[in-house]
Amino acid sequence: MKYRRIVLKISGEALCGEGNFGIHPDTLQRVAAEIAELSSLGVQIGIVVGGGNIFRGLKGASAGMDRSQSDYMGMLATVINSLALQDALEKHGVPTRVMTAIEIRQVAEPYIRRRAMRHLEKGSVVIFAAGTGNPFFSTDTAAALRAMEIQAQALFKATKVEGIYDRDPARHEDAQMFTKLSYDRFLVDRIGVMDSTAVTLCRENKLPIRVFKLTTRGNILRVCKGENIGTVVEA
Ligand code: UDP
Repeated sequence: MKYRRIVLKISGEALCGEGNFGIHPDTLQRVAAEIAELSSLGVQIGIVVGGGNIFRGLKGASAGMDRSQSDYMGMLATVINSLALQDALEKHGVPTRVMTAIEIRQVAEPYIRRRAMRHLEKGSVVIFAAGTGNPFFSTDTAAALRAMEIQAQALFKATKVEGIYDRDPARHEDAQMFTKLSYDRFLVDRIGVMDSTAVTLCRENKLPIRVFKLTTRGNILRVCKGENIGTVVEA
């Protein structure tokens, strides 16, 4: 394995299957199966799940809500997704902890960095819920932050397409995928795959970002083995 400890960022949308709301049980099971396989091979996995399949802060704000209030709702949405993923992983026999940046003691442990590292060392998958715990941030930034904190070797960003393209591959048939991209180019070109705060954090700390399609079976394992699939964002 090229990477022994990773943080995987999954967007909320990755859990809702063909519809664009909620949690689709079969999709959730498929995602969990991929993660379970990787975990069984001894890779230490931290996961950050988004909440976009339930609620997004910006959407609430654009409808007139207070942005912070709306963002807290978004963070709680990530907790719901985290609990669903924990359940699915446990059904696959993977010991899983949910650690939340916003205390909800009855349902999840508070996030404590050292405790998270201990769980990982003992073979549990750790799901980091509630983003960074702060409004005006995203779960991409939470993923970059947690990856640095737990000294992950890479940030895995699972997307709906194979990697990062020079233009939207859904609209342009001739869109070209980058196999490698520098942090600077990513930021200058304002590539929308990940937000700039997250990429800036990765750049400052030289954390490679691996962007790939989650729903292609075995992809996550191949990336972990160091195969050249998707796009690598690095210096
Ligand atoms: N959020 C936040 N702070 C964080 C992480 C998330 O306020 O540190 C809120 C924000 O409102 C965001 C929502 O949680 O819209 C869901 O997260 P995100 O949009 O990143 O989810 P994804 O698009 O990956 O599903």
